[in-house]
Amino acid sequence: MRAYLPAYDLRIPASLSEALALLAREPGVWEPFAGGTDLMVLLEAGKLSHKRFLNLSTLSDLQGIDVTADTVLIGALTTYSEIQRHPVLQTEFPLLCQAARETGSIATQNRGTLGGNIANASPAADSPPALLVYDAEIELVSERGARWLRYQGFHTGYKKLQMAPDELLSTVRLPRRAKSWKQYYRKVGTRKAQAISKVCFAGAAQVESGVIRDIRIALGSVAPTVVRAVKTENSLRGAKLSPEIFPAAKELLAREIAPIDDIRSTARYRLRVAQNLLEEFLLQLTK
Ligand SMILES: Cc1cc2nc3c(=O)[nH]c(=O)nc-3n(C[C@H](O)[C@H](O)[C@H](O)COP(=O)(O)OP(=O)(O)OC[C@H]3O[C@@H](n4cnc5c(N)ncnc54)[C@H](O)[C@@H]3O)c2cc1C
Repeated sequence: MRAYLPAYDLRIPASLSEALALLAREPGVWEPFAGGTDLMVLLEAGKLSHKRFLNLSTLSDLQGIDVTADTVLIGALTTYSEIQRHPVLQTEFPLLCQAARETGSIATQNRGTLGGNIANASPAADSPPALLVYDAEIELVSERGARWLRYQGFHTGYKKLQMAPDELLSTVRLPRRAKSWKQYYRKVGTRKAQAISKVCFAGAAQVESGVIRDIRIALGSVAPTVVRAVKTENSLRGAKLSPEIFPAAKELLAREIAPIDDIRSTARYRLRVAQNLLEEFLLQLTK
């Protein structure tokens, strides 16, 4: 059933401070609206329970990509198309660019934002595994001030976030460390495009003389939140790369994730695919 449009209110704040003042005055009443690509699906389905929306799209403080010597700062309103076009993201953060390229269609990529993908908190979202691998940090702003958090741990449960109702996600910060690392990203869905992930895998590793010096592994669609496979990483760190280490790593990964059966796939399939992707990632490191 479609929603009744006159029942909704959309406010366009003139500035970030006006937006934050509104959120502070009536926390939980005003829901941020960025590209609208998640929210409009709910509207069409008649499932948009919120009635009052705060349009963020004109807020310049939440836009743009800035590169410093050590970091790349991505405004929450940055779209997937902007991510794909950015030269530093292309060369140093290819997993994020690939996630952006494989998100929805071009129309969705032109409107959907990185901040919206994070705040929507779907465990099947495609950019979060890349952000976890890159050790991203996020900035939340409110009238009370600004605070930076590690992205890892931001999602505390299914659709649960460490973000208060008066806060907005303003910036994603990526440290420029992974440049020389070998990187791997694979989204497995029903189709090549316009598909929600059955499993999404991102990995990066620093390999020297056949030994894994450091490694990061993150997955989507295999638990109530996107997850970093820390125990599997720990078991692989310092290991000499050879197919003999694959079975134990795959076993450990199975114990770190908790896939479920749903309309898109089964727990058994997701587990098998996650393990196969780990093997494919490790195999690529040997080359
Ligand atoms: C056809 C289609 C295909 C899609 N395919 C994919 C896909 O392949 N992979 C994938 O991961 N996603 C996909 N999506 C989902 C969606 O496009 C993304 O999650 C997108 O990044 C959401 O961003 P948005 O700006 O449109 O968010 P919105 O819809 O505007 O908002 C989403 C949620 O985030 C909150 N929010 C937004 N910005 C902020 C902020 N700065 N601070 C605080 N809260 C905020 C909103 O209040 C809302 O709860 C698809 C959607 C559609 C319609």
